[in-house]
Amino acid sequence: MLARAMDLTTTPEQERLREQLRGWLRSHLPWEYGVGLPPRFDDLAEEVAFGRRWQADLADAGWVAVTWPAAYGGRDLGLAENFVVQEELARSRAPELVGRIGVNLAGPTLLAHGTDDQKARWLPSIPPARELWCQLFSEPDAGSDLAAVRTTARRVDGGWQLDGRKVWTSYAQFADWGVCLARSDPSAPKHKGLSFFAVDMHAPGVDVRPLVQLTGEAEFNEVELTEVFVPDDQLVGAPGEGWRVAGSTLSNERGVNPRQLVIHMQHLEELVSAAAACGAFDDTRLRRRLAQAYVEVRLFQLHNWRSLSKLQRGLEPGPEGSILKLYWSEMSKRLHALALDVLGPAAPLWRDATGNPGDGSWQRAWLYYQAASIFAGTNEIQRNVVGERVLGLPREPVASEGAR
Ligand SMILES: Cc1cc2nc3c(=O)[nH]c(=O)nc-3n(C[C@H](O)[C@H](O)[C@H](O)COP(=O)(O)OP(=O)(O)OC[C@H]3O[C@@H](n4cnc5c(N)ncnc54)[C@H](O)[C@@H]3O)c2cc1C
Repeated sequence: MLARAMDLTTTPEQERLREQLRGWLRSHLPWEYGVGLPPRFDDLAEEVAFGRRWQADLADAGWVAVTWPAAYGGRDLGLAENFVVQEELARSRAPELVGRIGVNLAGPTLLAHGTDDQKARWLPSIPPARELWCQLFSEPDAGSDLAAVRTTARRVDGGWQLDGRKVWTSYAQFADWGVCLARSDPSAPKHKGLSFFAVDMHAPGVDVRPLVQLTGEAEFNEVELTEVFVPDDQLVGAPGEGWRVAGSTLSNERGVNPRQLVIHMQHLEELVSAAAACGAFDDTRLRRRLAQAYVEVRLFQLHNWRSLSKLQRGLEPGPEGSILKLYWSEMSKRLHALALDVLGPAAPLWRDATGNPGDGSWQRAWLYYQAASIFAGTNEIQRNVVGERVLGLPREPVASEGAR
């Protein structure tokens, strides 16, 4: 697929892979392929337990972390094959992997910077969700300006002692391990004094407090680290190299996004049906916005293909990752705002209300996707990156020094 710049066709092998996965999903999904939905849970812990079982089955059949080396539970497949796998999983309406932080962020970082012992110890338990990971990067005063982290790592006998406060740590309440950026040398320049650790989330001194989000759910947390002992063999990379190691984690947060691509195509199809059913389609202004949403989703598809094509040719992803993140998050917010306008008087309703198409799912999605322009680097930061690195505008000092 995409071997040449404009070749957007998949190869017969990639189509076979797609068919293979589709066949597996049709016989293993606990809901109807592409139509039914995973069960709806009122309790996040139940949802996570269900997600762990589902991910274990998927990994058992070889459909998780397909780009990883086979020795660590992957299949040594390429990026285009992974794109096909992610598209198919989303098309089947499989839930997002509960262990995605391990699979997409911590795992690739350990593959790039971990020792052989660290890889052998941690990687095999990530694809089957035997161990879940979280990302202990952001702090109350270090989000966009990530290199400003204040959590300290003090040298002690046999390892390090970590003290500080992390925030917005997704799934920390269920995680077994966390990748953590901490300041090991306060006298060094801002991003030279950082080190990267794997923290045992069950260790004494780790206190996790869930934070309630706009949706009423509590996926992310505040994490207090008080005299947490981290042995030497849990330091990833050399002391002082934390910023470089964290760069691997951050670069995996953006870029091609087959899952969001398929999800937004599905959202749009459902929205057009809802508009037809409730009469909103007869309103010219709404019809025009639906057409605009269709154009935007198709453009997002082309942006994805262009980036994938570049990666396939062995080129660096470059600032395209920022353009993609910026584009899909803004597109998503517009699409979900349109959904509420299509719902009209039903827009303020929630689950279990009568006369509410989607039973609250549109309202929840509108709330949820407000976060898309904040996580994985805010859109203002993405605009800085595009401005500075694509358009060549003058650099903004804070963003250039330590921005994620
Ligand atoms: C749903 C969700 C899940 C998350 N999960 C995790 C997680 O698991 N682990 C983790 O470590 N973090 C996580 N985060 C945190 C996320 O990465 C940060 O919220 C993000 O980096 C922004 O940091 P901040 O919230 O501290 O905002 P700040 O950095 O304080 O920014 C506040 C505002 O100022 C703007 N701003 C800041 N600097 C600049 C600049 N230089 N130029 C222009 N504008 C600027 C920002 O765009 C923003 O609008 C999550 C966030 C969300 C919303």
